[in-house]
Amino acid sequence: MALRIGLVGIGKIARDQHIPALSANGRFALAACASRHARIDGVANFPDLESMLAGVPDLQCISICTPPQAHFDAALLALRAGKHVMLEKPPAASVRQIELLAGEAERRGLTLFQTWHSRFAAGVDAAREWMRTRPLKGGRITWKEDVHFWHPGQRWIWEPGGFGVFDPGINALSLLTEVLASEVCVERASLEFPENQQSPIAAALLLRTAHGATIDAEFDFRQKGEQSWDIELQTGSGNLRLSRGGAGLAIDGKTVMLDEGMAGEYPRLYQRFADLCESGSSEVDIRPFQLVADAFLVGARRIVAPHVI
Ligand code: NAP
Repeated sequence: MALRIGLVGIGKIARDQHIPALSANGRFALAACASRHARIDGVANFPDLESMLAGVPDLQCISICTPPQAHFDAALLALRAGKHVMLEKPPAASVRQIELLAGEAERRGLTLFQTWHSRFAAGVDAAREWMRTRPLKGGRITWKEDVHFWHPGQRWIWEPGGFGVFDPGINALSLLTEVLASEVCVERASLEFPENQQSPIAAALLLRTAHGATIDAEFDFRQKGEQSWDIELQTGSGNLRLSRGGAGLAIDGKTVMLDEGMAGEYPRLYQRFADLCESGSSEVDIRPFQLVADAFLVGARRIVAPHVI
């Protein structure tokens, strides 16, 4: 029997990815949605999660697609109502919140799937396998996109808890922590804040592995023209390049995998969510989020030109 699921926060990612992935997945039946301003045709619509839980009590799962500032309250409410929960990235507004949610799910025997969608990109499994036996010498992350194109009118991204350029940048860190065989921490960071906004528009991080290899990371929301979502890793026996946010993989300049963008990520995410719900287990990895939090802790700050949303 299909799992009855409700969707919370109907915006860009819910419409672009979640609804199509759910429609194509026979293991789920999308039964309801909760959104203050949006509706989905053919399901029960509610203005908020409380009324959705009351109105459709037989929901088994809740998938939360709101900005991170709204994740904690929604996820806690859903878990306390006995529902399995899937959370968009970034997982919450603070590190402690996600730890509390993980504890709540565990105590109740429910699934918390704290997702990193980029880890489901086409090149990632092969990249992790290739890196498994090769000691890292160094690396570079280049994550540069045009915020006006990808996040039109999204005010929350510039507010406290919206993380600015780390909203996409955390995807790079989710890939890095997935494919590297050794752990990494933030050694230095510099963050650029527009004088009229609360979140950084650009950031540069120096990351260092537990074995002393360094990775330079550059994140920038002001990119025009070609967009970059690339990770290059050098080892003693060859170089790896993940491009297109993980959808492309090349080893020593030779293409191993090239998929179109995010095409397969959300279908694979929902397959994993169904597996986790059936087995009653959770998947939570806070390391990418911890790295972003640490960049805010150790980062030098520079005020730059105002940004018009
Ligand atoms: P969005 O277009 O702004 O949609 C989010 C929706 O959540 C809003 O339309 C809003 O709908 C609802 N919401 C509830 N509480 C809110 C609050 N406090 N502030 C603003 N909106 C609130 O954002 P999105 O691009 O879909 O991103 C949502 C999450 O998905 C983010 O965490 C983002 O990192 C992640 N994500 C986005 C993309 C992408 O390509 N856009 C890709 C992967 C992941 P109502 O007003 O109707 O309640």
